[in-house]
Amino acid sequence: MRTVNAYAAPSATEPLVKTTITRRDLGPKDVEIDIAYAGICHSDIHTVRGEWGEIQYPQVVGHEIVGHVSAVGSDVTKHRVGDRVGVGCMVNSCGECEQCVAGQEQYCLKGNIQTYAGVDPADGSITQGGYSEAVVVNEDFVLRVPESLDIEKVAPLLCAGITLYSPLHHWGAGPGKKVAVVGLGGLGHMGVKIAAALGAEVTVLSQTTAKEQDSLRFGAVAHHATKDPETFERLRGSFDLIINTVSAKIPLASYLGLLKVDGALVNVGAPSEPLEVPVFSLIGARRTFAGSNIGGIAETQEMLDFCAEHGILPETELISADRINEAYERVLSSDVRYRFVIDTATLA
Ligand code: NAP
Ligand code: ZN
Repeated sequence: MRTVNAYAAPSATEPLVKTTITRRDLGPKDVEIDIAYAGICHSDIHTVRGEWGEIQYPQVVGHEIVGHVSAVGSDVTKHRVGDRVGVGCMVNSCGECEQCVAGQEQYCLKGNIQTYAGVDPADGSITQGGYSEAVVVNEDFVLRVPESLDIEKVAPLLCAGITLYSPLHHWGAGPGKKVAVVGLGGLGHMGVKIAAALGAEVTVLSQTTAKEQDSLRFGAVAHHATKDPETFERLRGSFDLIINTVSAKIPLASYLGLLKVDGALVNVGAPSEPLEVPVFSLIGARRTFAGSNIGGIAETQEMLDFCAEHGILPETELISADRINEAYERVLSSDVRYRFVIDTATLA
């Protein structure tokens, strides 16, 4: 067992504090990773604040992890000491169900094992995430991070990147398709960059026009304010695909009206409150309302390689660990440009 420095939530209502946690001894298929950088996802905040249900405290979160392999178990074949690697939202799954066999471990029929706040099949402990100096993960859930991607910026691809790449792919974003991304935060800005690289015509639907120049810089052709009711008149029936990344409840009826006939609105945002689906907005134009959860391991590798090929990186603000609580407040007030990344060297 190895003891490492980390930042943990002591309860749902207190700020995160510096602490230590232990990482298990290497099993034969395990890889030990010295973490260099960890992104802050809005899911980390939903989780530690108990918005998605009760968890056990103290809890270390963080599921956008990059670093270098520091040790490998006796049967590891996919990674070597010194390799630059990443870990996203999952650290294991049953490996046997039809979803796992199809490479869709995120939809494992027995439930995938989350990087944090999950039950680790290796020892029954609660998994602890990436706001820490090291982690031990089964080699099948460790991704290769291409050398051309700046290691200081790449971590958010492991959640934000794949969460947008997967539905964009699944719903056929590409040349000739009009795609709207709702919410220009961590997920949303990756969606704009990836959808544009796939060849789609991308529009951003943000609360205000404050981030318009950024949207255009990321590859969007247009940016509209959702606070302006005219936006929903002007853009009625415009899009083949809308991806909603908003972390709060939004009035779906207005957004469904922006879809073409046969269009799909895919929700990746995960507010604790239910969204209301007005069925007539679907029926009237054979529209689809759907959801999507991260992506499988093979697809995550494909996304990393795609981003390397197209030079796609998140926009990040690097922070020391003692600024995590301040970063949380800024994420909550939509004041993130566009992902906070923790320099884990500052945990020492
Ligand atoms: P984020 O960086 O906070 O971005 C969310 C964006 O939504 C904000 O930047 C803001 O964009 C917009 N927004 C926030 N509050 C709003 C409100 N009340 N009304 C309208 N728009 C609002 O969060 P994130 O890390 O991208 O995560 C977004 C959501 O996706 C979270 O709920 C997270 O848990 C979830 N998530 C899901 C998956 C999955 O697999 N499905 C994976 C990761 C995260 P504007 O300023 O542009 O309006
Ligand atoms: Zn996430």
